[in-house]
Amino acid sequence: MCRSIRRLKIGGFFFLILLFYSGAGAYDIEPYTNVLALKTNTRLNLVFCPLSYSGKKNFQEDVQVLIKSLRNVKPFNALSNSSFYYINLSKEEAGVVFKPSQDFPPIRVRKDFINSLSFKLKSTCKLIILDAQGSVSCAELSSADKLSLITIGRNRYKNKDSFAKGFLHELGHSLGLRDEGPNSEAALCPPGPPNCAATQEEAQRLWGDLTGKGERVGYFNGCCGNKNYFRPTVASLMNNPDEASDFGPVNERFLRKALTPKSILKNNKKSLT
Ligand SMILES: [Zn+2]
Repeated sequence: MCRSIRRLKIGGFFFLILLFYSGAGAYDIEPYTNVLALKTNTRLNLVFCPLSYSGKKNFQEDVQVLIKSLRNVKPFNALSNSSFYYINLSKEEAGVVFKPSQDFPPIRVRKDFINSLSFKLKSTCKLIILDAQGSVSCAELSSADKLSLITIGRNRYKNKDSFAKGFLHELGHSLGLRDEGPNSEAALCPPGPPNCAATQEEAQRLWGDLTGKGERVGYFNGCCGNKNYFRPTVASLMNNPDEASDFGPVNERFLRKALTPKSILKNNKKSLT
């Protein structure tokens, strides 16, 4: 599920209003321990924030499941420039920073809180709210260079595998991948690059160079909730996460490029010529 730009603007307006409320308490943002965190050329800062968890241990176990899932899927498994953090808000602080909503996203976050994350990290990041009692997951359709919000409703998932795949799906949205699903939730995503084409001509332009190399990439009907649109693979984490084990070659290429610092891309290009 992803949110359109229109919804994003509505959210932004709400954030502005909340900005004038009284300040949130002080909070700490801590590097997540026991994981590799290279600060040089960091492109992927993930900040995990618990909501309604009964204990810190349960939250930490869940975060470990998600980090492990990143280590096991392409292209994240080959990235050395990711950093992971967590925030632990008191119940009172969480009550000030987060507000439940009937619309998307199901939880609104104070804009000054989000801005302070960038300030503290001196970089952009993805804020991931793990809602222990929620059952709705969603993410803004965003990009690697923008700060954006991911909400994971923990109750939605029947087991750890499903939970991890649901997270990867939403993370894909927050980095720019479109919903390849056939349902009405997927229809919230407009078609476009890199993985959903409104016409076959557009599909050929977007990923035609990857067809014919193995059997996976082609022009398959159904994407962004419309059976007439095209997607590049039959199964993908951006389609039905439970029935897929990876993002597929087209999405992996896009993510690899989006998460690789420009300086490294340039050097690779030089060494190829
Ligand atoms: Zn989706």
